[in-house]
Amino acid sequence: KLFNEIQELKGNIRVYCRIRPSALGKLEKESIVEHVGENDLVVANPSKEGKDTLRSFKFNRVFNPAATQAEVYSDIQDFTRSVLDGYNVCIFAYGQTGSGKTYTMTGPNGATSETIGVNYRALNDLFRISTSRQNIVEYEIGVQMVEIYNEQVLPDASLFPVKLPSDVIKLMEIGLKNRAIAATAMNERSSRSHSVVSVHVTGKDLKTGCTMAGNLHLVDLAGSERVDRSEVIGDRLKEAQHINKSLAALGDVIFSLSQKSSHVPYRNSKLTQLLQTSLGGQAKTLMFVQINSDLSSYSETLSTLKFAERVS
Ligand code: ADP
Ligand code: MG
Repeated sequence: KLFNEIQELKGNIRVYCRIRPSALGKLEKESIVEHVGENDLVVANPSKEGKDTLRSFKFNRVFNPAATQAEVYSDIQDFTRSVLDGYNVCIFAYGQTGSGKTYTMTGPNGATSETIGVNYRALNDLFRISTSRQNIVEYEIGVQMVEIYNEQVLPDASLFPVKLPSDVIKLMEIGLKNRAIAATAMNERSSRSHSVVSVHVTGKDLKTGCTMAGNLHLVDLAGSERVDRSEVIGDRLKEAQHINKSLAALGDVIFSLSQKSSHVPYRNSKLTQLLQTSLGGQAKTLMFVQINSDLSSYSETLSTLKFAERVS
């Protein structure tokens, strides 16, 4: 109850941190993460000079490396389900390449029913609940995929209707095929584009005839890693600049929403323009801040945590 009240005050923005496991499924052996609580974590600077520097960060929830996909989803399902009541919801995964963004949103390569990610769990959930309400509300669910690369929106023109459980599986197969391509030729690019899965829901109350609509946007963001300007030129530099600009613009939008500011700068990137009607107002926003715990990721992890600190 108290938690919900706090959420309302913060304008329906939640920030969750998820720590990627090492190969052993735990924190890295030599880890920069000193402490993991339910709502906070402490990181230590591994460099000699900064040895005693500890920094603490607070979140609505922290998932330690052992957290399962089911646990993660059960914590966010109230958000995704509210789409059936006409809310607009955005869920983002933010972090450096290799921090587990795609794992959280989609799942690993060759995902099983245990390891599938938020996207399919949400879709299955919405489909299951809408079916259970079919004598009360007539729902229609459709899914569209959009990629934003170099500030260009590349929509997959087709809107897939979801009418049967097998449609969800079909979508999963398409998603996995795309991922397989991503793993090879397109891999480089996939970490440098934002990929958006939009679930559009409309409902008609069979008794009153009232209609409603809600959208769920599931966003696997481009890698947030800093690119060394002295090392990249041409296309690669342009990409990096577009990514920095759009992630900064997203941070600015969420920050001003959390401040209840009267001016929200949606126009500064394609991503925030695309999601404008689903960010702010009555809409709900959830960000997964993905981090690595190994020593060599320290500076990226710290900059990811600082981004999170600003928007939460
Ligand atoms: P990103 O999308 O941020 O670049 P990935 O999701 O591709 O990162 O994750 C990098 C690697 O780590 C992948 O092999 C992925 O399967 C694995 N991985 C990430 N998070 C987890 C997790 N929570 N449990 C198990 N493996 C994970
Ligand atoms: Mg990825």
